[in-house]
Amino acid sequence: MKFTEKTRDIIRERAKHRCEVCIMPITSGGQIHHRRPRGMGGTKNTVSRSAANGLYVHSSCHAWIEGNRSEALEKGFLVHQWDDPTKVPVRFGQEHRLLLDDGGFVLLQDQDNPEYQTKSRSELGPSDSEDRLFSQSV
Ligand SMILES: [Zn+2]
Repeated sequence: MKFTEKTRDIIRERAKHRCEVCIMPITSGGQIHHRRPRGMGGTKNTVSRSAANGLYVHSSCHAWIEGNRSEALEKGFLVHQWDDPTKVPVRFGQEHRLLLDDGGFVLLQDQDNPEYQTKSRSELGPSDSEDRLFSQSV
């Protein structure tokens, strides 16, 4: 099941032009990786097309995931066919993110601490300070 163009845009926007595996900027040739494998007949669930099921990645990082599946599973870059991608946190640098269907994400501050910070899509605009730093360094 392919993502719609709109979902791809949402995923890229969430990633803010950074690879969601190695967190380095993607300048060209970014790809959308499916966290949940596309099993035969397993795509009737719309979760497969949800923004939470996609990661914006370098082609080299995409290849790394395919070649290091157990580590990728551990870090949430891959989820099992029977897992819900919105329930499995993804490692992003030092962060653990729970990706949401709409392209937002929940930042898990500490795995032992139930308190977390929610970021909605509207807060993920291009005015973020980290993004400004990044633009200046180009
Ligand atoms: Zn990468």
